[in-house]
Amino acid sequence: MNDDQLLRYSRHILLPEIGVEGQEAILGARVLLIGAGGLGSPAAMYLAAAGVGTLVLADGDTVDLTNLQRQILHSADGVGRMKVESGRETLHRLNPLARVETLAVRLEGTALDEEVGAADVVLDCCDNFATRHAVNRACVKHRKPLVSGAAIRFDGQVSVFDLRHDDSPCYHCLFPEGESVEEVRCAVMGVFAPLVGIIGATQAAEALKLIAGCGRSLDGRLLLLDGLDMEWRSVSLGRDPGCAVCGGR
Ligand SMILES: [Zn+2]
Repeated sequence: MNDDQLLRYSRHILLPEIGVEGQEAILGARVLLIGAGGLGSPAAMYLAAAGVGTLVLADGDTVDLTNLQRQILHSADGVGRMKVESGRETLHRLNPLARVETLAVRLEGTALDEEVGAADVVLDCCDNFATRHAVNRACVKHRKPLVSGAAIRFDGQVSVFDLRHDDSPCYHCLFPEGESVEEVRCAVMGVFAPLVGIIGATQAAEALKLIAGCGRSLDGRLLLLDGLDMEWRSVSLGRDPGCAVCGGR
């Protein structure tokens, strides 16, 4: 680290759990963010500010006026532009030292596989089950830690599936694909603005802890937030030995 970096990241370096070594790990990390919307906005901003070396932003959508109520990566002049482009500019203003790569597509297939393989940590900040399951399958295959978040109405949830460990559950163990789960999306259901901030910032915190190797992650636990009563619940998760995705691991 040069003098500039030592100053910029000094409040991290002062934390014994992170220190110079942890900050070096953060500076060297490559984090893949699937989605630059409500959850991806705060997650990307904290990760960039904290010094993550390379952020890969993947999102195929453009900024819509209805996004601005909660997607703080984007501002009024970004309406109509690709979210990843608008996001890259915001992140560059926050921290010009952070390298931001953009993928202006809904990441899938070979491209998803390659990006997950190249990442140190993957953040699922998307809004649909098809993508969530595709990201989970790639993370299981490449044994990459997956930080998963979701938020709708006043309800949020966040967990870590640390697929580097043999006994850790995957997303599919918890929410098997094909089960008749109702797909509820912000587009039609509404979402309380700061809820995505709380969940997205928690995802950033878990990602940084995984990278710096400090604390205990949410691996094996699902945190559920009731934003109306402002109550958190923690539920223990076990691996499903018969899971169609990670069962053969
Ligand atoms: Zn599984």
